[in-house]
Amino acid sequence: MNQAFEVQDSANVDPKEIAHFDRIANLWWDERGKMGNLHVINPLRRAYIFENISIESPKMLDVGCGGGILTEALVRSGAEVTGIDQSTLTLEIARRHAKSEGLSIDYRCQRIEELAVLEPEMYDAICCMEMLEHVPDPNSTIHACAHALKPGGKLFFSTINRSAKAWLFAIIIGEYVLGLLPRGTHQYQKLIRPQELYGWANAAGLDFVSVASLLYNPITRGFKVKAGVEDINYMACFVKRGAEK
Ligand code: SAH
Repeated sequence: MNQAFEVQDSANVDPKEIAHFDRIANLWWDERGKMGNLHVINPLRRAYIFENISIESPKMLDVGCGGGILTEALVRSGAEVTGIDQSTLTLEIARRHAKSEGLSIDYRCQRIEELAVLEPEMYDAICCMEMLEHVPDPNSTIHACAHALKPGGKLFFSTINRSAKAWLFAIIIGEYVLGLLPRGTHQYQKLIRPQELYGWANAAGLDFVSVASLLYNPITRGFKVKAGVEDINYMACFVKRGAEK
C-alpha cells in the first residue's frame, strides 16, 4: 500500500523557471541549438531506462517532459506515455512535434502532485529527468512520483550534483563559456546532492537500484555513461517497495 500522501499546500512551481522554459520553447527540437545536448544524451538515458524495465509495453509517465525529446523516445521503445509539464509553450511544441511524427502521447499541463492524487499507483515506470533542480520543493515531487508509481515500479531521476565541480563545469563553462545550454538554466543552490536525493527517495518508499553519470568529452563533444558514480550530471533508478513477492 501507498504511504500516507497529501498534496502540498504550495504549488511547487517556480514561475521564474516556467518563464525561462517558455522563453526557450522554440529550441527543443533544434539539435544544433542550445538544447542540442539533450539530443546527444537521449540514446544513453533511453538505454539506461530500458535496461531497468522488464515489462513489454510499460505504462509510463514523463514528469517535466519539456519538448518531448525523451518522451518520444519512450514511445518509440514501445511504452504508452503520459507527459506532464508546467510550461504551456513547451507543451505546445511537444504536441506539435509528436503530431508531425505520428506519435500518440498524452501531454498534459498538470502538476505531479495533482496527478498523483487522481492516478495513484497507475504507472509501471516514471521518468523525471533534469527537472528536480527546477522546482521549489524536490522532496514533494519525489513523493508525488512515488505515489503515482505501482509497487515494484521503477522511478528514474536525473539531475546535477551540487558540487564545486558542477558549478564550474555545468554552470560557468557549460552556460557561459562554451554555451552548451541556455544561460540561466541552472542555479547552483538548487542543484541536488546524491545523498539528498537518496534520503528523499527512501522516505518516499523507494529503494535505490543504481546510479550512473553522463560524462562529457569536450573534444569529441560526446557523452559516455559511467556506472556507479555521481559526477556532475547523474541519473539514478529506484524501485517502489511493497510489490508482492
Ligand atoms: N525532462 C526533459 C526536460 C528537462 S528541462 C528532458 O530531460 O529532456 C526541465 C523541464 O521541467 C522544463 O520543460 C520545465 O518547464 C519543466 N518544469 C519546471 N518546473 C516544473 C514543475 N513544477 N512541474 C512540471 N514541470 C516543470
